[in-house]
Amino acid sequence: MSGHLTTVAGVTVDTRHWIGGERVASAATFTDHSPIDGTVLGEIARGTATEAEAAVAAAKAAFPAWAATSREERARLLHAIADGVERRLEDLAVVETADNGALLRSHRRGVMPRVAHNFRFFADWLLTLGHEDFDTRGHTNHVSWDPAGPCVLITPWNAPLMLATWKIAPALAAGNTVVLKPAEWTPMTASLLADIAAEAGLPAGVFNVVQGLGSEIGDALTSHPDVRRISFTGSVPTAKHIAASAAANLTPLSLELGGKSPLLVFADADLDLAVDLAVEQYDNAGQVCLAATRLLVEESVAEEFTRRFAEKAAELRQGDPRELPTDIGPNIHERQLEKIDGFVRRAIEAGARAVIGGERLAGQFYAPTLLTDVAQDSEIVQEEVFGPVLTLQTFRDEAEAVRLANDTRFGLAATLATGDQERAARVTGQLVAGTVWVNCFFVRDLQAPFGGSRHSGVGREGGTWSFDFYCDVKNTVTAPKGWKDHG
Ligand code: NDP
Repeated sequence: MSGHLTTVAGVTVDTRHWIGGERVASAATFTDHSPIDGTVLGEIARGTATEAEAAVAAAKAAFPAWAATSREERARLLHAIADGVERRLEDLAVVETADNGALLRSHRRGVMPRVAHNFRFFADWLLTLGHEDFDTRGHTNHVSWDPAGPCVLITPWNAPLMLATWKIAPALAAGNTVVLKPAEWTPMTASLLADIAAEAGLPAGVFNVVQGLGSEIGDALTSHPDVRRISFTGSVPTAKHIAASAAANLTPLSLELGGKSPLLVFADADLDLAVDLAVEQYDNAGQVCLAATRLLVEESVAEEFTRRFAEKAAELRQGDPRELPTDIGPNIHERQLEKIDGFVRRAIEAGARAVIGGERLAGQFYAPTLLTDVAQDSEIVQEEVFGPVLTLQTFRDEAEAVRLANDTRFGLAATLATGDQERAARVTGQLVAGTVWVNCFFVRDLQAPFGGSRHSGVGREGGTWSFDFYCDVKNTVTAPKGWKDHG
């Protein structure tokens, strides 16, 4: 560490904000630790309302020129950012793993290529928008997706660069300027992305990063009258706070929130596939919004399913996320571990039985846990744990399965394991969820709508839905030549 630069896994990272094309320091800093071994990764600029104001001002100043830049040129620059991400893929992967503890092999093979793809996809999608005029009694309707203005994007720590770029790419493609506020536990790759965007030639002020604590810098961003869109991924309580803050200016919001998603296993399912899908829910140490944390299993196969599940889960290797054989890395923070353990302790006191796990391990690890004997209205069934903790309940028939599946305040996703396509269609039609997977999990195409129902979110992003959100959609009706309106 020296001055404003720190070295993370051999990569130099600037710990300051990125505002108006310049690095900006703050008077105060906060410390960023690695969840792998507690190492101090850096002292990060601790932004306040002053830096928030400066970043929004920079985004506002850069907006007219960026909005007027041709779509082709914007698309070219987004591809140039994707090139930069690919060139620095290894740097981004090792820094992200050091910062959030998720598997290095996933960052190398899946996540960082997907980050580049986020930019390429929305660059290309931009060029397909708005070519469909239609006719009303000889009048032409032309729909345009006009840039909206400065956007504030606020993201969590569980998949930092992936979730940030899924917002940044469409916002920039749409002709908007951006102020990104990454989570305080994972500030590093956002800073690297600022370097990459600058190297790609993105004009100053088009993309800005402010670091800091959400509780300190958040309100200045979300209540700002010059901000035209807020896209937030995070928890329900923070979303409510942001919605109240944005209400003063009626700033449109996209909210991607938590979940308590079900995996429904019917007796006619391929049981090996169902077990694989269930064990997959421990990925990223259970820190996945989409995770199907409630296993709902048809009574007649529940015993066999549970036996096979426990055998399969016992094969999971917890350890250093940089090592190739590791399946599950550490949880993000001591505070998060205490939260997870609190949920499990209270469930067990209320009568739950831990089929596997149920305890903290050395370091920042929690044992993959499966709890049975849980009541539908209990905290462990109703609340998001955001750790490697699943519950298992049984059902007798389809109607009960659907009732249990829908009986939380969330509605982010649902997964079905069944060998009967007609049943799949019937059940899917009754589930409250933004995404339903049948005999698969986590297959996500960027052109598909993504978001949650009920407390899992407001709005949808992805493909055209992203442009609908990040743009002011306008319809222009033009009369035919020589036409007179006689009332
Ligand atoms: P939080 O809501 O605590 O934080 C998310 C972001 O909001 C962070 O950048 C945080 O900053 C910021 N923030 C906190 N307070 C404010 C405020 N007052 N104003 C503005 N911003 C603020 O969520 P977590 O970080 O704990 O993330 C986990 C949650 O995210 C889970 O509920 C999970 O389900 C959800 N999630 C949803 C996804 C989806 O697509 N639906 C995907 C991934 C996660 P700071 O870090 O400094 O506190």
